[in-house]
Amino acid sequence: MVDGENSKTIDTVQVALRIRPLMQQEIDRGCDECIEAISGGNQVQIKDLAFTYNYVFAQHINQQEFYDTAVKGLIGKLFQGYNVTILAYGQTGSGKTYTMGTNYSGSDGDSTKLGVIPQAVADIFDFIETHEDKYIFKVNVSFMELYQEQCYDLLSGKERGHSIIEIREDINKGVILPGITELAVTSTMETMMVLEQGSSGRVTGSTAMNQASSRSHAVFTIIISKESRSDKNIATTSKFHLVDLAGSERIKKTKASGERLKEGVKINQGLLALGNVISALGDGTNRSYISYRDSKLTRLLQALRLRSNATQRLLQHAHWGRSLAIEIYGFYPDPCESPSKLSLLFHSNSPSPDSLGGNSLTLMVACVSPADYNLDETVSTLRYADRAR
Ligand code: ADP
Ligand code: MG
Repeated sequence: MVDGENSKTIDTVQVALRIRPLMQQEIDRGCDECIEAISGGNQVQIKDLAFTYNYVFAQHINQQEFYDTAVKGLIGKLFQGYNVTILAYGQTGSGKTYTMGTNYSGSDGDSTKLGVIPQAVADIFDFIETHEDKYIFKVNVSFMELYQEQCYDLLSGKERGHSIIEIREDINKGVILPGITELAVTSTMETMMVLEQGSSGRVTGSTAMNQASSRSHAVFTIIISKESRSDKNIATTSKFHLVDLAGSERIKKTKASGERLKEGVKINQGLLALGNVISALGDGTNRSYISYRDSKLTRLLQALRLRSNATQRLLQHAHWGRSLAIEIYGFYPDPCESPSKLSLLFHSNSPSPDSLGGNSLTLMVACVSPADYNLDETVSTLRYADRAR
């Protein structure tokens, strides 16, 4: 188990690249691999391009090894009061849900197959068990889905149509989701049952990509509060967001039209705004002011009365956001477009009064397919992840 107090310093934003193995059907079709992790390093090579990330996980790395290397160290940080966000980004079929473990449906006891969520939950309850003599812990979970800019509470127990919740900005509390269901959980098993129950209510749709694809973002949040038994003033609350993003594939490739096309545009805009937020976070300075709403640039500049260097930075990010949008998603974003709810949501990572310095840590896991027919999408993902670092 990680010891929170002694764990080494971790970058505010880290990027891990994970390459899934070729699937049997791809091998049967004669697909070749077009990407190679450079052994022993954190570099990857594709065609004549090379990229460097905090971590690169090659095809053969299993779930346990992935978790131990990239995630385990963050659990101790949570108990120190840091907010932690892990996001899985990539085209449909690249391994996001597999990596996050969002679709958990019972364990056969093989931890090499368990995704991030079940492993993290087990570590959280392990930590609690070994520190319960000194602290009182409370764990709550919420589970939401962002679909077509609409936020659904997956734990409300209500029919889908009645589980829509609003995202609001509160001057004191930052972004809030009034009325979202937060269930108290006391064990790994109970938490996993809640996750399973929530996943079953997710929306899925199929596109011309080879399989049913998830067109929504799923956010599983674990809220941990810790209070010292000897001194009530020693207390922290932290949020752990585990995010399984919608497929990042470009709209053209999915041959979408009508509703599907609109959906695709929204998803791409949301992912782009999110990329801007993450990139800004990684810069380190003026963190609490940075561009959560950079797609509504002008209003934001007025509203936040940003200092000039922060303003400069914001403009830079808006600029790269636009060039990235053209490069990767093939559209020219309107700077006056209302803020994406996805990026707004991450505003809830802003300092909470009782967390240690209000720090937040973000791990973006970029998932890619190694198959040559996915080359373009893979390069897009590598570029997106490169900007985030
Ligand atoms: P996504 O959520 O990005 O659409 P999935 O997580 O559903 O993709 O993965 C697509 C398929 O590939 C699934 O059948 C999954 O089990 C398999 N897969 C993904 N990553 C790995 C991996 N690292 N090792 C083994 N199988 C994987
Ligand atoms: Mg998925």
